Amino acid sequence: MKEFKWQDWLIIISEAVIVLFLIWGYKNISAEKIDTWSGKIISSVNEKKSTKDKGAQDGQENLPEEELTEKKIAITFDDGPHPVYTEKLLDGLKERDVKATFFVLGEKVKANPEIIERMQKEGHIIGNHTYTHIQLRSSNREKFRDELVLTNQAISEITGQEVQYVRPPYGTWDKKLEEEMNMFPVLWNVDPNDWCTGNADRVTRGIVDKTKENSIILLHDCYQSSVDAALASIDILQERGFQFVTVEEILFE
Ligand SMILES: [Zn+2]
Repeated sequence: MKEFKWQDWLIIISEAVIVLFLIWGYKNISAEKIDTWSGKIISSVNEKKSTKDKGAQDGQENLPEEELTEKKIAITFDDGPHPVYTEKLLDGLKERDVKATFFVLGEKVKANPEIIERMQKEGHIIGNHTYTHIQLRSSNREKFRDELVLTNQAISEITGQEVQYVRPPYGTWDKKLEEEMNMFPVLWNVDPNDWCTGNADRVTRGIVDKTKENSIILLHDCYQSSVDAALASIDILQERGFQFVTVEEILFE
């Protein structure tokens, strides 16, 4: 058997040191690799997460513009004020915090001034619908104009404010009157023909099926069925995210 000399021990120890060194080195490299990979995985997850967060934040920044802004519509009532139905309607609008636009007849304003006063107090817009519901024709232009003036006077005496809006009966209008009278005509685009049926459900369907953003709904506050349909429609449309505003917000904003 070979006798170990101190040189042999030196070689064995040196080899052992080299082997240990190699093992230590390999472990370190592996650890680094794992760290690098897991680091990459973590950072890519973070990247995705932060992209997602950013998306959500962007979304939150954009949402108020697109989704939180409610779709505006206006509800309008012609031919009043009626001593019974207009009051009922005003009660229902107040309960629902809805502002409407009323196109009133001068002769009915004279008969029911307290209702005009209430409309103004409760934030509704009051417009002109002529004095006796006269339709504009080429033969009666002067009379038509006189009726507008008389109705404006009747309203202003009560409200103390100038009347800016007119709804010409049957939608017949002369553009020159706009400058002459300094008034703006307001027509409509949802007409459930409430005046020719007493069926409130049918009127309600006629409103809710056709209403979209910026619609101007035409109703008449001189029938019980119209009042019922108006309030039922308001409940449904508010539920669907519509916001009721006065016509000026639809026309000028
Ligand atoms: Zn009318």
